[in-house]
Amino acid sequence: MTKRLFETDPRTFAFTATVTELIEIDGDEIVGVVLDRTAFFPASGGQRADKGALAGFEVTHVREDGEKIVHELAGASGIEIGAQVEGRVNERVRRNHSQQHSGQHILSAAFDRAGLGTVGFHMGEGYCTIDLSGKASAQAIREAFELANDVVREARPVTVELFECAELEAKFAGSRLLVGLDKLPEGHSGKIRLVSVEDFDNCPCCGTHLQKSSEAAPIVFLGEEKVRGTSRISFACGAWALDEVFRRNDILVSAANALGTSIAEVPKIVESKVQSEKALSKKLADAEMKLLDSSVDTWIASAEDVGGLKLVSALCEFSSNKLLNAAAEKTLQKIEGIVFLQNRAEGRTQIVIAKSKTASKDIKAAFDELMKRFSGKGGGRPDFIQGGFAGDVDDSAIFAAGKELLRG
Ligand SMILES: [Zn+2]
Repeated sequence: MTKRLFETDPRTFAFTATVTELIEIDGDEIVGVVLDRTAFFPASGGQRADKGALAGFEVTHVREDGEKIVHELAGASGIEIGAQVEGRVNERVRRNHSQQHSGQHILSAAFDRAGLGTVGFHMGEGYCTIDLSGKASAQAIREAFELANDVVREARPVTVELFECAELEAKFAGSRLLVGLDKLPEGHSGKIRLVSVEDFDNCPCCGTHLQKSSEAAPIVFLGEEKVRGTSRISFACGAWALDEVFRRNDILVSAANALGTSIAEVPKIVESKVQSEKALSKKLADAEMKLLDSSVDTWIASAEDVGGLKLVSALCEFSSNKLLNAAAEKTLQKIEGIVFLQNRAEGRTQIVIAKSKTASKDIKAAFDELMKRFSGKGGGRPDFIQGGFAGDVDDSAIFAAGKELLRG
């Protein structure tokens, strides 16, 4: 069992402890060190693990293993069971995590007042999410963040106390200030660690917390996503909130500069550019469609003879892959034989292989082999098959192989 120093004094960052166990992880690359006591918070309850150094080596991860806490060290050597080692928790990282966690308690309590409970909490890298029990309206989100930030500004004390379960139920009987008691693991025994934000929220929790609500300032809304009809709310607190505000501002300023406009005008200008691009694409496709007849004639003029059938093949330069089918159909109106067309547009290579109803050639076998060789995907009728290749592909190699397979 590892004594958890962060539970009683979250401001202990430097400590000495005795190594009680060594666990080999991933060969010699990572060593798991178990101590008799630690100030390192392990990943749990939605909170990320602390970072820092132990015995002079970087702590890459900290996790729970039953009653023990395992510190994973990269490239560590020379540590022995029974040795005294020094640990140092990265204060800035811990402070960031505590800001998120306390901020989450406050935000969840604010949503709770709108009848929206918190059913999940995740701390990512630089942002957090909570999953609400229902769908939150834009107004409910706005009000919850306003209330949470009011509570932050009021600098309410955040305290941690240990209670027996029955004691807790009696103390908060009929009060809406206690949340999360129903989420205790089944068969829970022993004392409950209650984290309280004065006169606002009381929640059983194992995480590290701030001393005053104001240390979480500000709590910033980053977005809402629908998950199975309920709302997932993204947010950031404290230093992460400031980082995210700067990051988003940089993105917006870059967009405004590229468009030669002000930040406020960005949505309007982008919308008009999207509309005009759509119109231009349509005009271009219409023009290409009109030119199709002469393109088809050019391809037919250089058709090959394959066992008495005409094989028309072309590496097209259409602005959209959507024109391929029409081009293949037009070609088959003019010849008896096989047509193989390939085009690259919108970051994707697309092919169509088709044949006249009277042609006996098995184009499906050639198509399947081509898909296999170049990891493509597709399908269709026996006489009209389409396929595609995502990402960066060698267009001339695909085209050459396709022709070769159809000749065979
Ligand atoms: Zn918590």
